[in-house]
Amino acid sequence: MRRVAIVGGGQAGLPLAFGLLDKGYEVTVVTNRTPDQIRAGKVMSSQCMFDPALQVERDLDIDHWGAECPPVEGIGFAVPHPEQAGARLIDWSARLDAPAQSVDQRLKMPVWLENLEKRGGKVLIQDAGIAELEALSDTHDLVILAAGKGEVVRLFERDAARSPFDKPQRALALTYVHGLKPTPDYSRVSFNLIPGVGEYFVFPSLTLSGPCDIMVFEGVPGGPLDCWRDVKTPADHLATSKRFLQQFLPWEAERAQGVELTDANGILAGAFAPTVRKPVLTLPSGRLVFGLGDAVATNDPITGQGSNNATKAARVYLDAILAHGDQPYTRAWMEQTFERFWDYAQWVVQWTNSLLTPPPPHILKLLGTAAAMPTLAHTIANGFNHPPSYFPWWADADEADQLIARHQAPEAVAA
Ligand SMILES: Cc1cc2nc3c(=O)[nH]c(=O)nc-3n(C[C@H](O)[C@H](O)[C@H](O)COP(=O)(O)OP(=O)(O)OC[C@H]3O[C@@H](n4cnc5c(N)ncnc54)[C@H](O)[C@@H]3O)c2cc1C
Repeated sequence: MRRVAIVGGGQAGLPLAFGLLDKGYEVTVVTNRTPDQIRAGKVMSSQCMFDPALQVERDLDIDHWGAECPPVEGIGFAVPHPEQAGARLIDWSARLDAPAQSVDQRLKMPVWLENLEKRGGKVLIQDAGIAELEALSDTHDLVILAAGKGEVVRLFERDAARSPFDKPQRALALTYVHGLKPTPDYSRVSFNLIPGVGEYFVFPSLTLSGPCDIMVFEGVPGGPLDCWRDVKTPADHLATSKRFLQQFLPWEAERAQGVELTDANGILAGAFAPTVRKPVLTLPSGRLVFGLGDAVATNDPITGQGSNNATKAARVYLDAILAHGDQPYTRAWMEQTFERFWDYAQWVVQWTNSLLTPPPPHILKLLGTAAAMPTLAHTIANGFNHPPSYFPWWADADEADQLIARHQAPEAVAA
């Protein structure tokens, strides 16, 4: 049977490993942290996954938290009023057709790593670099590098044509909390956009200590939400989170009055540039390594798509490997497989990047009109499931007007 090595035991690498194991492949996962180290470490993401990505996990029989994890049932969108303190210029919400869920990766990845061994996979704890990739390529038919934002992924060449930014566009922070007041009617990602300052969104999740909420802060560089560098302790991090809400988003501050950190590691701050890389790496020996997930396409978390993308990429690669049978894994096959994923991912990247620069008038019009047009709000909310559905209208003012006109027609109300 064919042997596949996957470097990186994360949201991209592990679903692929399970899928291959199920089909009788010999799978080695090389990852640089043990299950216990992951459990005892800091949070890594807010990892909200929408239904199509959750379906990939269900199909692979690796969704062990579906019943326990609180659902995310909708998307809410708000913009503070620039002149009336405490009021909202835009405020709407819409239900998702199927719930999203977020399972803390500190909970998920250790169980996946342990189960992978139980299902017959080999797990090696090792910080892989060129020498380790060479050794793996000696003993495996295919080597996949799915090491997320690890240093080793810089070995893949940056694809400048597909990467409009060469610097971080947001200062990021996560605050995992217990005690947040729920939203009325249904749970949701409550997304708040503060022009020139950044974004704040918050939604239910499942962490080590049970159900929680994750606050995500996205600060425009140099602005008031680019404030995490001097924050030294978990208590400071929580206080900074609450202070920001009091100053800019009083309705969110009200929900957060009684919050406490889930644990001292339930915080994160950092920044990275959204980057697409060329998917094939040639080792000094001439052997090839194929990139997967964040290793070759990292998005800013503003649209919550990274884990979704990683999972969908794993599915595309799994199908391509299975369809390839015993044929050699050539550069052409790797590039074609990545392009198959890119047919989808290019829209995710374009949509996500569009939210990192000041929105053009037609986007503001769409987001504003949705408040009075529930079917339009529903269309925008459910685009998170499948971002290609935002196009062409997200990028084209005429198409956006036509979309609004379609939703004004009475028959659209049932759409
Ligand atoms: C602040 C923040 C918020 C986010 N919120 C969301 C969200 O709401 N929704 C969403 O879909 N996505 C979100 N994401 C993105 C999402 O977490 C990632 O896109 C996703 O985890 C990528 O999966 P991956 O498997 O490619 O990489 P990872 O999950 O990062 O896995 C990579 C693995 O490789 C290992 N590794 C690294 N280097 C090496 C090495 N040299 N040798 C061996 N192993 C190595 C790492 O330890 C890790 O286990 C967020 C990210 C951040 C930073």
